[in-house]
Amino acid sequence: MFALGYRCDDCGSTFEIGERVNTCRRCGGFLEVVYDYDSLRRSVDFKRLANRKSSIWKWLEFLPLRSADNIVSLGEGGTPLTKSLVVGPRLGLRHLYFKNDTLMPTGSFKDRGFSLAVSKARELGVHTGLTFTSGNAGASFAAYTRRGGIRAVILVKAWAAREKLAMIRAYGQEVIKLEYESFAEVAQLLAKAEEQLGFYQFINFINPVRHEAMKTYAYEICEDLGWTVPDRVIHPVGTGGGIYGSWKGFGELRLLGLVDRVPKMTAVQPAVTSPLIHAYRGRALEASPTGHARGTIAESIAADAPLHGGRRILRCVYDSGGTVEAVSDEEILAAVRELGHEGIFSEPAGAAPLAALKQMVERGEVDPEETVVCVVTATGLKQPEVMEKNHTQGLVTIKATYEKLAAALSQTWGRV
Ligand SMILES: *Cc1c(COP(=O)(O)O)cnc(C)c1O
Ligand SMILES: [Zn+2]
Repeated sequence: MFALGYRCDDCGSTFEIGERVNTCRRCGGFLEVVYDYDSLRRSVDFKRLANRKSSIWKWLEFLPLRSADNIVSLGEGGTPLTKSLVVGPRLGLRHLYFKNDTLMPTGSFKDRGFSLAVSKARELGVHTGLTFTSGNAGASFAAYTRRGGIRAVILVKAWAAREKLAMIRAYGQEVIKLEYESFAEVAQLLAKAEEQLGFYQFINFINPVRHEAMKTYAYEICEDLGWTVPDRVIHPVGTGGGIYGSWKGFGELRLLGLVDRVPKMTAVQPAVTSPLIHAYRGRALEASPTGHARGTIAESIAADAPLHGGRRILRCVYDSGGTVEAVSDEEILAAVRELGHEGIFSEPAGAAPLAALKQMVERGEVDPEETVVCVVTATGLKQPEVMEKNHTQGLVTIKATYEKLAAALSQTWGRV
């Protein structure tokens, strides 16, 4: 293992990598895993890594796990980087790609983070874990903790999609629905539950390793592009674990001399719930709570109050020369349809990056020669009722005869 320990973002306190910590014990700041990059550079042969089986665990040396025996895996990561055949050409972009995480074991990119966080928790001897979820994190957490033999308490938004609830419950862990107005209430509840019951927390950033697994986005994307770096990577953002981890991964590859720069990182939020865009427009380093958690179909990124003011997210946007974008539900639905034409069925949040890219192209900010990656974070099967509303024409039902089929087709095609 090349992880040296944790360091607090705010006060610089350090903790051992074998310690059971959530946030900084001195000041409550987020902890960052620090690595010995010199040793990593000297001892790891990347060509050999490339021959390993495709999974986040291909990159074990970059992750803070002591022993591979503790790995809890369901086959997460190593998803395709699919070149756009329809939308890219229409937008005049020659190198547009979709990182297709709809293909994950529980249908969302959350599996990257929970595979690592649950493996780490097992290594630390954690017995009971707690997380809050709008749906996808809950399903992933429930599946991985079940595999890892950890008892899980899953607090889920009371208005989560039925399908998401059904999936979370499938793994037989403790599930409780939560009513609240602002995420700030949830954050307080979590802190109190940790204090009173001693549950180990798995919320992004409060859990210090979940986002580390998102570094694998960088490794996988660069590897698929022949160890070159895309110009832009666009992530849908809730807590920011996805974009922040991805950015850290690109930074590591640069540090190790494998690539020469870091992509512009773009964070996308729903326009009705976008604390980050307000901060970004004012070039602020910290975001204040804005909007309400129920106002959009992109439920997975309806985050009205980012933890610690979203400082990590804003840092990665500013440092990389990226942007924050806000998109409407209509724009998201159009992007869902377009992804369908690329052969990818995405839930609304997963289509937000494409919706944002279209705005950026319209504003003339994206060069036709740029390589752009939109991260598609979850499958459309997570929210089918939204998808059904996305079709303007109703479905035709016919008796099973050739005459009826020919008549039905001639309605749309004119003549068969
Ligand atoms: C959780 C989630 C996000 C947001 O990820 P963060 O790491 O919280 O920023 C985006 N899309 C989908 C589908 C999600 O489930
Ligand atoms: Zn601290």
